[in-house]
Amino acid sequence: MNSILIPYGMQDISEEDIASVVSVLRSDYLTQGPKVPEFEERVAKHVGAEFAIAVNSATSALHIACLALGVEKGDVVWTSPITFVASANVVLYCGAEVDFVDIDSRTYNMSVAALRMKLEVAQKNGKLPKVVIAVHLAGQSCEMREIYELSKKYQFKIIEDASHAIGADYMGQKVGSCKYSDICVFSFHPVKIITTAEGGMALTNSSELADRMNLFRSHGITRDVSKMQGKSDGPWYYQQIALGYNYRMTELQAALGCSQMDRIVEFVQRRQMLALQYDIYLAKLPLIISPWQHPSSKSSYHLYVIRLEKGKSKKSHLEVFEFLRENNIGVNLHYIPVHTQPYYSKMGFLPEDFPNALAYYQEAISLPLFSGMSDAQQSEVVQKLTEALLL
Ligand SMILES: *Cc1c(COP(=O)(O)O)cnc(C)c1O
Repeated sequence: MNSILIPYGMQDISEEDIASVVSVLRSDYLTQGPKVPEFEERVAKHVGAEFAIAVNSATSALHIACLALGVEKGDVVWTSPITFVASANVVLYCGAEVDFVDIDSRTYNMSVAALRMKLEVAQKNGKLPKVVIAVHLAGQSCEMREIYELSKKYQFKIIEDASHAIGADYMGQKVGSCKYSDICVFSFHPVKIITTAEGGMALTNSSELADRMNLFRSHGITRDVSKMQGKSDGPWYYQQIALGYNYRMTELQAALGCSQMDRIVEFVQRRQMLALQYDIYLAKLPLIISPWQHPSSKSSYHLYVIRLEKGKSKKSHLEVFEFLRENNIGVNLHYIPVHTQPYYSKMGFLPEDFPNALAYYQEAISLPLFSGMSDAQQSEVVQKLTEALLL
């Protein structure tokens, strides 16, 4: 029936989105105009954070978040091995060392128990992390309240990598409210919940951190006289007071972002509905583990990750994956454990250092899920998955 590939994720662009971008092209500002602050305000309001800093990617947002928290050479930052490489790479950009905490085998997020144990050991060795980057895999929040309690005991800062999780809830509040973190980061890459083509944002409730991230976003330059050394030479004057980058978001991107925000609730509801339907369909299939949901969290379902119990099905994980791809089901795998990447193995990490992450990698499959996915496309995915398991 379906000869066209059903992708694992894709953007949802309306005529209103297109008109919004075109209107910027006809305006006076392609960059550093009114749209970026408007987009920042809309996202901040939606998630209940005080400050928002829009940048050209979530990777840049994570980088300036680390810089704002003072991550530098000699520091250690911990994150999850089951994430996109960017969550770890940004630590290396700062000249600091990265280490990982194994995942929970039900949520696939950083395990609080493993974190607690690793902190106890690190305290004895005098190698406590300066920052922990908690990654909300698939759109499901980590157990932030527990991680926050540990941060008070062991004196570390928290960044949420919520690249998957704009629109998700945790304990009755929106992810991004930063109730249990210092900074929260969203991605607007086309496969994510809303898109600006490339783009990201850092949210915080600290004016000090917001100021610092603002500085790092644009070369470390300020035009605010109160932040300068000495006084201003005149209206042209600016001062560079830190080493920053050009991580600015364009007006075109922000216009697309503003327009996408009009539909964020609809996007997330559709994803949640599709996930529920998958849950129902897949409950009838043997050997499949559906994504488990923590009672405190309501996922935005960036991804729908199933696990195929190793050694139990006729076809191997690889064979099921290949069968689905051959049948135009664009399955994917999120993620290859970061510590097994050659660049990270070189630092001395062994695959079995994080056994839950490794076991997950051998069983996980991301099924197609995007807001524009039709019920017919979803049935096709389930049909082919059934064939893959039973034939
Ligand atoms: C997509 C993603 C990133 C990077 O986002 P970009 O906007 O592409 O830089 C970082 N972390 C996670 C978990 C992601 O999924």
